[in-house]
Amino acid sequence: MTDLSGKTALVTGSVQGIGLAVAEALAGAGARIAVHGPHVDDVAHAACERLRDAGAPEVRLFPADLLDPEGAGMLMREVADWGGADILVNNAGIQRTAPLAQMPRETWDAIIAVNLTACFVTMQAALPTMAERGFGRVINIASVHGLVASKDKAPYVASKFGLVGMSRVAALEYAAAGTKAQGGVTVNCLCPGWTETAIIEPQIQARAETHGGDRDAGIAELLAEKQPTQRTSDPSEIGALALWLCAPVAHNITGTAIPVDGGWTAQ
Ligand code: NAD
Repeated sequence: MTDLSGKTALVTGSVQGIGLAVAEALAGAGARIAVHGPHVDDVAHAACERLRDAGAPEVRLFPADLLDPEGAGMLMREVADWGGADILVNNAGIQRTAPLAQMPRETWDAIIAVNLTACFVTMQAALPTMAERGFGRVINIASVHGLVASKDKAPYVASKFGLVGMSRVAALEYAAAGTKAQGGVTVNCLCPGWTETAIIEPQIQARAETHGGDRDAGIAELLAEKQPTQRTSDPSEIGALALWLCAPVAHNITGTAIPVDGGWTAQ
């Protein structure tokens, strides 16, 4: 069992979906959790409650809109005042689909702001303190779309390829920080394929409409195109892998982009 007592984890976008599942796994190992969402609402309060139930010794909500150019910086200053993040999970993300020629410029700007620029700001703020402490884990939730492309996703694919590249740079810059006994500072990406959360719902609905509203048929078609196992992932499976990366045994795993994609990128 990985023991994260005494450690603080900031998980961006942890009020729902993959972020909440990752936060839940870390809470179960005893980490204090800095919960982040765009605003204070019932969804955020429910997530905090769930993380306390999962075993987090302390939970605090830090609202910040990452579309606001000052949002990520403000978030990191507030978390630093709370003791700083030993574990940073950049999970918040958005996706919109359209052919490149029709993709609105505002959509490009928004996706790059949330999926890439905010991660630069959080890593820049968190990594020096991790190096001083000799322990740190940065886990960036990229995507299969950080490794391969699909049509109609130009800004999303650009943001996730950018995130994988930036993570590799940070992994190299902090590779020598800390000792084996301390645990070192590692920076990795997780690259999920189809995972059942709100972000893929518009794509499921679009496919379902072509099958007379049959949602299962829509999911099956999406999987058949890309994900050879024909099975979606559950967010808790991403959480389990993130937790494992936080363990001392993972001190030499850095600069990786680990697919959780049912064979999508093996093709
Ligand atoms: P989701 O829509 O349920 O979660 C997205 C999270 O990002 C939410 O918590 C939301 O509050 C937060 N967020 C979005 N815009 C924000 C903003 N402006 N300010 C602050 N927070 C904001 O979807 P998810 O699947 O849980 O997505 C989590 C991550 O996983 C994303 O980075 C996504 O790209 C990635 N991902 C998901 C899948 C999948 O199939 N679900 C596959 C690959 C990668």
